[in-house]
Amino acid sequence: MVDTDSSSDLFQRARAVTPGGVNSPVRAFRAVGGTPRFIRSAQGAWLTDVDGNDYVDLICSWGPMLLGHAHPEVQAAVADAVGRGTSYGAPTEPEVELAEEMVARTPIDSVRFVSSGTEATMSAIRLARGFTGRDVVVKFAGCYHGHVDALLAEAGSGVATLAIPGTPGVPESATGLTLVLPYHDRAAVTAAFAEHGDRIACLVTEAAPGNMGVVPPEPGFNEFLARTCAEHGALFVSDEVMTGFRASKHGQWGLDGALEGWRPDLMTFGKVMGGGFPAAAFGGRADVMAHLAPEGPVYQAGTLSGNPIATTAGLVTLRLADDAVYDHLTKAGDVVKQAATEALSEAGVPHVVQSTGTMFSVFFRGAPVRDFRDASDQDTAAYAAFFHAMLDAGVYLPPSAYEGWFLSSAHDDRAIQTVVDALPGAARAAAEARA
Ligand SMILES: *Cc1c(COP(=O)(O)O)cnc(C)c1O
Repeated sequence: MVDTDSSSDLFQRARAVTPGGVNSPVRAFRAVGGTPRFIRSAQGAWLTDVDGNDYVDLICSWGPMLLGHAHPEVQAAVADAVGRGTSYGAPTEPEVELAEEMVARTPIDSVRFVSSGTEATMSAIRLARGFTGRDVVVKFAGCYHGHVDALLAEAGSGVATLAIPGTPGVPESATGLTLVLPYHDRAAVTAAFAEHGDRIACLVTEAAPGNMGVVPPEPGFNEFLARTCAEHGALFVSDEVMTGFRASKHGQWGLDGALEGWRPDLMTFGKVMGGGFPAAAFGGRADVMAHLAPEGPVYQAGTLSGNPIATTAGLVTLRLADDAVYDHLTKAGDVVKQAATEALSEAGVPHVVQSTGTMFSVFFRGAPVRDFRDASDQDTAAYAAFFHAMLDAGVYLPPSAYEGWFLSSAHDDRAIQTVVDALPGAARAAAEARA
């Protein structure tokens, strides 16, 4: 057993002054039990906790650290920027450069920066409603778009149930205009648009769901969504906060829209484009974006939006994220996926590995996951045992069975070998814990 005394002490202090001891729920390890590790530093593919334990990081800050931690060129650019002050409340050059970089790499015509993915989807929906003059928003069960009131709706039963709030504190008035459908269910989409089409402002979807584990959209599914929206005068909002600049150089859109010849009306971004800082964005069609203040009537603003440190980190990250980076993620991912499959098969643990581009996750169930109902049917007890065995062996996986495993260009042979070596023991632990 690794020593976790300092993490335990900090967790106790944290719980006295912060609800649950954490500033984002999944960090508390509730789904897997045990003591959350407080991280002191990180370098490349490795995290070091406050007790001095090292872990290969398979979270990468839940996606952003595409180049690994403390990348020297990102660090240098950030240090340089910090030396010139950290926030002015006035426009800056890095914002322009990052916007140009994003417009060049995606199908959007223009982009507005915000500070979190939540803000990005919230603002995109406001813009869609303002642009169309309609109120209803369609989303899919199991897709996460940040903690926006209107998008925290759970699926009701049936084909297209007007949603009930998914958490206390969100009034029905906030979710009453949100329609939640099962992912991949074309008939449900068609039925919802047939019934409510002239009231639907937008359909918002994760470009490839990554927040119930990775569920690659079936070929043509996003195209079908884009077409259905267009037929009904609704906007297609593709949330690429997780997949953007991660699933491929051009995000999930690079894997489907770019090949099939369609583009979303609006897109949201975050994670990788912030280079490890609080930065996110929404962008899209020029005529839609022109409705935003100060050009148009839809209000949206932010004290720290386009912050020069965050946009500098994002810009350097994107400029360094070339084909070689994505090739490396593909190769390293293939090794980890293969090793996980072998170890879990050998131990007799039912599992499915699913990928989209360079993103992947391992589900603890025997059959493929197409929607949230499938994703919810996993052996979470087996996953908890697996997670802790990996952690004890120096590999930091997401503390939840509903998340992707993230790699970086800094995951070198030593880091990957550490993961590969840890897998057989963890698979045996999972087998013993099977529900
Ligand atoms: C992480 C995420 C968000 C929310 O971003 P925050 O910066 O955590 O608010 C929204 N959408 C998707 C698809 C995400 O993965």
